[in-house]
Amino acid sequence: MTRRFNFCAGPAALPESVLQQAQQELVDWQGAGLSIMEMSHRSSELVGIANKAEQDFRDLLNISDDYAVLFLQGGASTQFSAVPLNLLGDKKSADYVNTGQWSKKAIKEAQRFCDVNVVASSEDTNFTTIPAFDSWQLNKDAAYLHYTPNETIGGVEFFDVPDVDVPLVADMSSTILSRPIDVSKFGVIYAGAQKNIGPAGLTMTIVRKDLMGNASAHCPTMLDYKTAADNDSMYNTPPTYSLYLAGLVFAWLKEQGGLAAMEQLNRRKAEKLYSYIDNSGFYANPVELSSRSLMNVPFTLASADFDKAFLAEADEAGLLNLKGHRSVGGMRASIYNAVPEEAVDTLINFMKDFAQRNG
Ligand SMILES: *Cc1c(COP(=O)(O)O)cnc(C)c1O
Repeated sequence: MTRRFNFCAGPAALPESVLQQAQQELVDWQGAGLSIMEMSHRSSELVGIANKAEQDFRDLLNISDDYAVLFLQGGASTQFSAVPLNLLGDKKSADYVNTGQWSKKAIKEAQRFCDVNVVASSEDTNFTTIPAFDSWQLNKDAAYLHYTPNETIGGVEFFDVPDVDVPLVADMSSTILSRPIDVSKFGVIYAGAQKNIGPAGLTMTIVRKDLMGNASAHCPTMLDYKTAADNDSMYNTPPTYSLYLAGLVFAWLKEQGGLAAMEQLNRRKAEKLYSYIDNSGFYANPVELSSRSLMNVPFTLASADFDKAFLAEADEAGLLNLKGHRSVGGMRASIYNAVPEEAVDTLINFMKDFAQRNG
């Protein structure tokens, strides 16, 4: 068996030890005589797995009892509508920051439910910057402010949490668990699992409890946070196997030393890669220095004519899924928690070699 280095933006790399444990437990989970996939979600085994996953997730992010942790489905994209449906209350508008493709999708969906006030946009820099906070046109009657702390496609990340008077909502799909955050500053945090948590099919949502219970009369039962919270995320059948794997990843993260340790490692990985790109004379990253993502590193080659050869040769060298998003072009290396430092070193060596041969 040869595992190759996977730089996919999502579904993304998983820790090898987690996959091995899952393989070992696949057919007969810990002597239960059946696999997780075949277990009732009401069984004591599965409830135990869910409870432990929730506790480990709470420990990792230091989440207080003021917050509910929900295991949902539908991906982050479903949260684009769940957020306004749950949080608007009797308000008619919400504030959104537009920093890239995912912000835009969130905005478009919210426009189905309310007046969206775009407080700031970095579209004029082709989404390579974060608009300065003091320029934001906040609406004091907004039900909440939504932003995307890490734009997975553009590779732009916020390193400061916006300070606003309304509940703060964050789409953390591609940054959650990459470094410590102060959850108490947020009203709602959501993330599709398939970037930095586990396999697709699971969506983690953290909701401040006082924000639940005011869902719009039109809110589908399945999108109402209170339904999920009141039923321990088991109003209907949850994605049990994804939940189990996410639980293994949470336990793995604790073994690695938690999020402070992950941040150190992630900074080291990202700094190496950006520093090589900047000094290469062959590759370039367009994002302003202070907003460069620790998780998603887009880069272009000296000429787009090299792209095809780069991708083919990278693939041959065991470096997978480096093609950039079609809206940005070039390459993108997603270097989530489960992408080891060795993968980044190998990528940099490959890039050096390619540049030498083609530069
Ligand atoms: C991937 C991604 C999404 C979409 O997630 P789905 O789970 O596929 O709906 C939304 N926002 C961000 C920031 C993402 O990276």
